[in-house]
Amino acid sequence: MTFTQTAPAFIGVDLGGTTIKAVAIDADGHVLARRVVSTFGVDESALASLHSVIERLVADIEAIGFFPQRLGACTPGTVDSMGGTVAFAANLGWQDLALAAELLMRHGVPARIDHDARAAAAAELRARGANAPADLLFVPLGTGISAALSIRGSAVAGSTGAAGELGHLIVNPAGEACPCGQIGCVEAYAGATSIMRRYRTRGGEAASVEELVGRLHHDEAAAIVWSDAVDALARGLHSATAMIDPELVVVGGGLSRAGDRLLDPLRMRLDELFTWRPVPAIELSLLGSSAGLVGATLLAADHLDEWQITSLIREIGRENTPVSELISDGAVPCS
Ligand SMILES: [Zn+2]
Repeated sequence: MTFTQTAPAFIGVDLGGTTIKAVAIDADGHVLARRVVSTFGVDESALASLHSVIERLVADIEAIGFFPQRLGACTPGTVDSMGGTVAFAANLGWQDLALAAELLMRHGVPARIDHDARAAAAAELRARGANAPADLLFVPLGTGISAALSIRGSAVAGSTGAAGELGHLIVNPAGEACPCGQIGCVEAYAGATSIMRRYRTRGGEAASVEELVGRLHHDEAAAIVWSDAVDALARGLHSATAMIDPELVVVGGGLSRAGDRLLDPLRMRLDELFTWRPVPAIELSLLGSSAGLVGATLLAADHLDEWQITSLIREIGRENTPVSELISDGAVPCS
């Protein structure tokens, strides 16, 4: 069967330190196809993996009669969304990369890029519609940890695009080294990679942080590592809250799948740290662990309304599988 390629599709790509996730949706926000590739799976290069996953996804949608109208990509690091450049992304090995121009040149599709946390925060606000908080601190927890601050609906990017690096607040100056070069960062204890590394050094072995969290009640090493992660995160949020006084803190990213096993001890630890003010409201993201991917997709599809976004989050979330099962460069069925 042959199709006339007339229907527009919108592609979102979430670049993470472990996997690159991509999704294509139609103009109404329905998922057409998904692809996942390990970040350094193609020529050990994040950029080569990114191009490869987009090429495959474009082939997927062209085969069913769609063409890519716009791309949205979000990445960790220091990102200039207006200029379309990534100044620095340690986990991806990027420096001064004109990413939007690179994507346009390679795929012939206009692209918008943004910092992963800021894109997710914007998506979270759009998904919350009329109930969106005036001041939001959005914290995606994954391989790395960052944050996005939205004040009165405006994203705060900072003078160099580097605002919100919650993961690199120093919470233990005599502690463990962080890949950023500092000592004792939040991310050195609460980033998914750090959690797994610290568990292994205590003799533990797990395929994912979820598996580790499932052992908290009968595995001392898991309990210590998780408690250290919660403590580091609480100390980071303590500093951020003291500075910003957010109406709501929203926790997203892969680690948010831990749900109450994360939120309960986090609220308790934050309450112990604050002697002079109440703990701000802390909730799980409506975007689930797909916050970055939804955020990236909405960069491309900025026309979707609240109802369509809610349905998109449901469709993307339904196809969510644990991180360990996502590490392949094959197509993920979207039934
Ligand atoms: Zn650091």
